Amino acid sequence: MERILNYINGQLVEPVSKSYLENIDPSRGKVYGEIPDSDERDVQLATQAAKDAFSIWAATPREERSRLILKVADLIDANLEKLAKAESKDNGKPVKLATRVDIPRASSNFRFFATAILHESTEAHQTDGLAFNYTERSPVGVAGCISPWNLPLYLFTWKIAPALAAGNTVVAKPSEITPMTAFLLSELCIEAGLPKGVLNIVHGLGPKVGQAISEHPDIPLISFTGGTATGKQIAATAAPMFKKLSLELGGKNPNIIFADCNFEEALKTTVHSSFANQGQICLCGSRVFIERPIYEKFKLALIEKTNALKVGDPADEHSNLGAIVSEGHMKKVLSYIDLAKSEGGTVLAGGKQVILEGELSEGYYIRPTIIEGLSYDCRTNQEEIFGPVITLTPFDTDEEVLAMGNSTQYGLAATVWTSNLNRAHSVSSKLNSGIVWVNCWLLRDLRTPFGGVKNSGVGREGGWDALQFFSQKKNVCIKLL
Ligand code: NAD
Repeated sequence: MERILNYINGQLVEPVSKSYLENIDPSRGKVYGEIPDSDERDVQLATQAAKDAFSIWAATPREERSRLILKVADLIDANLEKLAKAESKDNGKPVKLATRVDIPRASSNFRFFATAILHESTEAHQTDGLAFNYTERSPVGVAGCISPWNLPLYLFTWKIAPALAAGNTVVAKPSEITPMTAFLLSELCIEAGLPKGVLNIVHGLGPKVGQAISEHPDIPLISFTGGTATGKQIAATAAPMFKKLSLELGGKNPNIIFADCNFEEALKTTVHSSFANQGQICLCGSRVFIERPIYEKFKLALIEKTNALKVGDPADEHSNLGAIVSEGHMKKVLSYIDLAKSEGGTVLAGGKQVILEGELSEGYYIRPTIIEGLSYDCRTNQEEIFGPVITLTPFDTDEEVLAMGNSTQYGLAATVWTSNLNRAHSVSSKLNSGIVWVNCWLLRDLRTPFGGVKNSGVGREGGWDALQFFSQKKNVCIKLL
């Protein structure tokens, strides 16, 4: 049984309650570890440690901050295999995905922001020859970082890296469903020599630990990634204290395929954007709109490719899809497939749980599922399912597909497939979402802003936006006497 600990004030410590929660391996449906059942007392200890460390860390020359953060990145790279295996076991994602994407991205997150702070520009200007103005940018204080289970280390470090690079200290909470790699990160931070109290990691349940972070008066800014309902709750808690908030929330993303697209490229990428990580990526294109002239051809090719995907042991290099993250989530996804049928949908592929053999028989597996015949405004097409389930809808005109694409409460990411440059520009500009990928999906340049509109979130992370979020600006105006 693997027991993990909190990381507070530079040390691995038990929770004050001395009680632990079960950690379940979704590929087998079995408990394999224990995680601290922390509460507001642990958050208090972590916040105090972060407050005590703040003035020294904020005054640490950026070259030194950068050196330490790069050390953490080096250690992540050196432990790639161990971290990828841990991420795969904890989350159910195929180990090859963790090895090729998740863990390398975690070290890139640290590397990117450690390097970016060395190249920040300074701003200064004169006011009509009367005064000299400059803008001081300084860290804000103790940053609260709360992250979800779908891309555990990837998203955890996407917040911690810019927060630390900008000179803040951090109290962070990973998802209680996938805490392992955050724990391994705390061991690497100790090995890297990160000063005590600079990063603190408190494990436990959202309503206890996450809530305690959101309401702590000494944590003036919160970066949160997770569900829209949780984001609303955090915003309501934080608002009376005027906390600075970055909320990266849910999505129900349109994937729009025009008849003039590069068919093979659109097909290959659509399989990926629909079912990568078992469809549990906020950016997955779960609503596929196909222009009528190629609807049948694209549909049949997509069904064939989807049926060829292997659902299997996440530890097996040949698995395309691993396990759904938890039993509760699997049931939720299956209930949406039932809902789709009751709303008049026809299941073209998948549509059910898969029982694998041997020790995997209790694991949480669903075959990648394609459904057609639903109206664009039914619940299946409006609510986030967050699993390996997509719907197909034909369309005839740009106006029609834009209306359907923009019809949900969400606005995170959209994908457009076309060879027509004018259409690419005009459709992208009319899509109401934070990100539009044209002829690609999830091609990320870390310098670009990332975030959603409407109920998909508030604020932008990535590049200078992230460093600005974790900084405060002060204008100093000196009159020339
Ligand atoms: P969730 O909202 O249930 O949990 C996210 C985190 O918040 C967890 O660490 C959880 O413990 C914590 N939490 C729960 N209740 C809390 C509370 N009352 N106060 C403070 N913290 C609390 O989300 P999830 O199920 O872990 O993740 C899936 C969701 O995340 C999906 O909706 C997905 O779209 C979204 N997501 C968004 C992005 C993005 O960048 N926009 C990226 C990944 C995932």
